[in-house]
Amino acid sequence: MGGTFDPVHHGHLVAASEVQAQFGMEQVLFVPTGQPWQKGHEDVSSAEDRYLMTVIATASNPRFSVSRVDIDRGGPTYTIDTLSDLRRQYPDVELYFITGADALEQILSWHRVDDLFGLAHFIGVTRPGYSLDDEHLPRGSVSLVEIPAMAISSTGCRQRVASGLPVWYLVPDGIVQYISKRGLYRRFGQSPAQEW
Ligand code: ATP
Ligand code: MG
Repeated sequence: MGGTFDPVHHGHLVAASEVQAQFGMEQVLFVPTGQPWQKGHEDVSSAEDRYLMTVIATASNPRFSVSRVDIDRGGPTYTIDTLSDLRRQYPDVELYFITGADALEQILSWHRVDDLFGLAHFIGVTRPGYSLDDEHLPRGSVSLVEIPAMAISSTGCRQRVASGLPVWYLVPDGIVQYISKRGLYRRFGQSPAQEW
């Protein structure tokens, strides 16, 4: 499951857990992007902060792990490189790429879509506010999966922190603490809104 994970939230974790259970997967590998090219114009937290948050959020689940493949490659992250590297790293496993409805829509605009679908089976999960249909998708290459609706986004979490609103229960407790410890998402000069 690729993502910016800035920060990782319970929407990501529920999606991963649900797909893992429904498909009986051995592992869900969270792959934080290096430089997300779709988000180049915005401020994205450092790769190390996003990597550490993803590790913290997934550490307690034996079926979850985190890959540094995109971070260590450096430069903008393209899913075709992610999947090619993972294939080299794990030559004998079946690869699935889990993506939310919004990101799946973008797949059609990605480069070399046919190569992409050849490298992994894609799983599109439902996400509140986005529609998920397979009208435009090549037959047989994408499974659509309904997951418990979590109307949570990283953008919403960042905005809440910047406005001094809590993100408790939207993200794991360790992520609330990490955001506070590192002073992430605060506006310039803003003091911690909530001490605890
Ligand atoms: P941002 O608002 O910064 O774009 P995000 O919440 O969309 O953050 P990403 O890191 O962009 O999180 O998403 C990683 C993957 O997780 C994408 O495939 C996205 O569609 C999926 N995803 C994110 N949030 C949810 C959610 N609440 N329900 C289902 N899928 C989700
Ligand atoms: Mg997103």
